[in-house]
Order: sequence, then structure tokens, then C-alpha cells
Amino acid sequence: MTIYNYLKDYQPILFQTFGNALTTNNLSHAYLLDGEPGTPLKEVAFYLAKSLVCDDPNPFACDKCLACHRFEEGNYTDFYFFDGSESSIKKDSVLELEKAFSMTSVEHKGVLIYVIHNVENMTIEAINSLLKFLEEPAGKVYAFLTTNNLHNVIPTIKSRSQILSLQLIKRDVLLKLCESIALPQDDIEMLVPFYNIPSLIEEEAKSERYPEYKRAVIDTLETFSDNPKRGYLKAHELIVPLRERFVIKRVFTYFALFFKDVVNYNIGHERLFKSYDPLIKKLAATIKNPLPLIVATYEISKKVDDYVNTGLLVDELLIKMVKETTDE
Ligand SMILES: [Zn+2]
Repeated sequence: MTIYNYLKDYQPILFQTFGNALTTNNLSHAYLLDGEPGTPLKEVAFYLAKSLVCDDPNPFACDKCLACHRFEEGNYTDFYFFDGSESSIKKDSVLELEKAFSMTSVEHKGVLIYVIHNVENMTIEAINSLLKFLEEPAGKVYAFLTTNNLHNVIPTIKSRSQILSLQLIKRDVLLKLCESIALPQDDIEMLVPFYNIPSLIEEEAKSERYPEYKRAVIDTLETFSDNPKRGYLKAHELIVPLRERFVIKRVFTYFALFFKDVVNYNIGHERLFKSYDPLIKKLAATIKNPLPLIVATYEISKKVDDYVNTGLLVDELLIKMVKETTDE
């Protein structure tokens, strides 16, 4: 699914609002895109930015002209991207931006555009510099800021931006849309809770990290359901070596979702990970009381953000899991 079709079919308000602004040449200098984790914020921000430089807009980017191609390849000179999704954006980045924008634009369109992804992860100093910048919108300078959490964006940024919100595609609709992508059903089920558009699901499934963290979850749970104590060793073997913090956090979230599925199984509700029904059935036979484990696992996943040692978190989780097994 292209971002154009995604906006047209699933984000009608944004599509119309921004489309009208493009048609009537009545753009705001700053847009704040807001959406839950899993929504394609960065991709949408890039697409809207591209629509401002396209040589043949309809009114959105055509994806065919030279300007669109150069933008896509990262060769459009008057475009800057700052990514706060993995580390916080510092004041230096904003200063760099100001410096770049104090010079005149290079491209014939004469617009300067920047995207700040996950603006809520900026340092206070960086925010203060950015605010000064947003206060005096020079000529044709356009900003696209994104956030997963509008409540964490300071009011002064919100008041200087036009807020555009992405709505979540419902799970059953998303599953239906995923039928068109060539992926095993279990991978689709595993990724739907984390990505709200088929193209991102496909991209993640093909990433290097996906098979690693999938294995960490499935193999640990399989081993645990056969022999809880060996599950403890397996968890150390597979989860501790994972490097990225958000991946470790995701692994714990999967455990919580699988415990939820054990509850679903016990009460005869539909499972999130239907493809793993044999595993869920084995877990249901092993775990006496899955309910407290759901809460405990979410609590543990939050500690990943506080840089708690992964080995300690794995210990904490597995001790709780063993405690809930029927034969202990
Ligand atoms: Zn174009």
C-alpha cells in the first residue's frame, strides 16, 4: 500500500485537510503529526514534505517526477531530517538546522523543509532553540514534527503547529489488508500489534533483527512449556544478547501478549496469535494463573527504559513464570 492510498483510504481527515492546504496554497509553517506507536508517522511526514517539492503534484506528490525521485533517494538538498526515535535530539542539531536555513535554498522550488521525528524526545535546550525558530517562520520554511504522545509535547510547540492526527486501522481490517502480502500468517500475526500498515509489517518481517527476536520469544516459551527450568536458561541464551533496547522491550511485550492469549484460550476467546495455538495450549497447561503475569511482564518491560540490566529483567520474569507453573 502506498502512503498516498493509505492517506486517501484510511486517514480521510488528514487527506482532505492537507490536500486543501496544498490546492489553495495555504500551508501552515509547522505541522505536528500525532499517532499511536505503529502508525507510519515518519513515512507520512516524508510524503507530505515530498508533496511540497513535487514538480507535478495532484495535489500530493506524484512519485514519478525527477524531484520526487531525488527526494526519495535522499538527494534533495533543501530537506533535513532529525530522528528522535532512537536517541534524543540535541541542541546542536537545531543549531545546525538554523545555520543551514540562514542560507538561501538551493533548489528551484525555493522551499526549505525539515522533519523532526519523535519531537517529544528533544532535550529542553533543543526545544528552546527550536521554539525560537518556529516563532519566526522565515519565508518558505516548513516543519513536520511527529509524536507518539501528544501529552509529552510542550504546549508552546503544539500552539505553534497545526496538529494532524493519524487514526489506527482496526486489527481485523489490517489483517484483511495483509492478505495481499506474501508473508507466513504467523509473522503477520506477530507484527500486527506493532505496525499499523502492511508495508511496515512487510519491511519489519524482512529485517535482520525480526527472526532473532521472534526466536527469543517463541523458543523461550516452547522450552518453558516443556520444562520451566530449562526455559530459564533458554531465556538467558536468547534474550540477553539482544542489543537494541526497543527490541528487548518488544520481547517482554510479546510475553505479556502470549500470557493474554493463554487467558483468551482459557475463556474460549479468539487468540491474537492464532497460528501459535498449539504453543498457547501447552502454556495453558503449564501456567496455573496467567493473569498476574500479564501485569508483571508489562511492569518489567517498562524497566527497559530505565536501563536496567537485561539479565536481571529476564531473571525477574522467569522467576515469576516458574512461580505460576502448576507443578511448583
Ligand atoms: Zn512528483
